[in-house]
Amino acid sequence: MVKIYDTIIIGAGIAGCCAAFALQQKGQKILLVDRSSVPASGGSGAAGAFVSPKIGKGSSLQELTTQAYVYAKEFYLQYFPKYFSQTGVIRIPKDAEDAKKFKLYEPFNSTEYQWIDKESLKTIGINNAYDSFLFEEAGVCDASAMCRAIWERVPFFQIDVEHLEFDENVWQIKARSYALKEEGIKAKNIVLATGYQNTLFDMRYMGVRGTWGSRGDYYSKLKLDVSMHKSISVSANIDGIIKLGATHNKAKNPCMACDGKPLQMLEERAKEMVDSSDFVLKETFCGMRAGSKDYFPLVGKVIDVPYMLETYPAIVRGAKPELRYRDNLYLLNGLGGRGFVFAPLMAKMLAESMVEGKEIDKRVNPDRLFLKWCRKLKIKN
Ligand SMILES: Cc1cc2nc3c(=O)[nH]c(=O)nc-3n(C[C@H](O)[C@H](O)[C@H](O)COP(=O)(O)OP(=O)(O)OC[C@H]3O[C@@H](n4cnc5c(N)ncnc54)[C@H](O)[C@@H]3O)c2cc1C
Repeated sequence: MVKIYDTIIIGAGIAGCCAAFALQQKGQKILLVDRSSVPASGGSGAAGAFVSPKIGKGSSLQELTTQAYVYAKEFYLQYFPKYFSQTGVIRIPKDAEDAKKFKLYEPFNSTEYQWIDKESLKTIGINNAYDSFLFEEAGVCDASAMCRAIWERVPFFQIDVEHLEFDENVWQIKARSYALKEEGIKAKNIVLATGYQNTLFDMRYMGVRGTWGSRGDYYSKLKLDVSMHKSISVSANIDGIIKLGATHNKAKNPCMACDGKPLQMLEERAKEMVDSSDFVLKETFCGMRAGSKDYFPLVGKVIDVPYMLETYPAIVRGAKPELRYRDNLYLLNGLGGRGFVFAPLMAKMLAESMVEGKEIDKRVNPDRLFLKWCRKLKIKN
């Protein structure tokens, strides 16, 4: 008997895991697949996985991030409290210039926070700092364990998806290899949660690209009860482990750029912030996070790009025809440097739109990028 799922989610990072969880909660028969046999083998496994609000002067992205932060915190505490440590997160200005900006940011801190001055920071072991914001309710996920905990609640197959075919209203997965019979895996809907490897359809208009980052986990006895971020992230000491992490490297060949020493910069900066003299490296992680062109997440339907370009050639000169989408094809991607913040709320939005027909929030709907991208095509040609 051919099994037809309601939805197959491709990619078992935090985006795919949360999408699978949200759709299952809505009563769908779902299947999560990944080319790896375990969850969080991509960017999600490398993440420092801080869950904290964005600071700034009240941009729309800041508002959305804060909304997602509030939701994520509650989501992790309700369903997966074992893998979310509410350590508090201190946002420390990068330098004196940045410190001045924090005063301007203050009115836009719309979740609970307090100032913590540099003297108080010293007493809790944080050096070379300026007056900072402490977000007491923020915290840190154990990235891999969190993904695994969600993954364990949903059906999963290891499949390296090569391409997808849509026939008679059902999607069929064509895989490079997998143990099950090929004709055995079909679904009414597909959700692409493939991170920076966004190659299964023409989705150039979303401008998904990777930024490389690294994380080091260190054994330490340092008493550090709070996590902090000052151009790099330093976690609290959780069960004898302190995590250092950052994603900054847009280079195509990040290993060349870091010269085989992915943790060097992290260790140098951490030394200025805390007493790292007893740090002993336990494990190194490197990974790519996927961001969109405008840094907002990408949630919703996928436009049929070849059809639109062929049918409406005037689109590259500014015509605005009605958009046509790939049948029953959705995505959750572009979570940038805040995958663990955005994923739970974006997954909820996606599930509500797929199951209840609720309109996707315009800020995250990928449609926003399409026409602009088409006009740029003309300039290039
Ligand atoms: C060093 C570092 C630090 C970070 N720190 C934080 C932080 O503090 N807080 C925060 O919120 N975020 C942080 N991030 C960002 C966060 O990790 C990402 O936003 C998040 O992991 C994106 O998740 P994803 O599920 O979209 O992608 P991924 O985790 O990359 O998952 C994509 C999955 O898709 C699978 N896949 C792709 N193509 C196929 C295919 N054809 N067939 C089958 N499977 C496929 C891959 O194997 C992979 O498992 C950090 C990232 C890095 C790298």
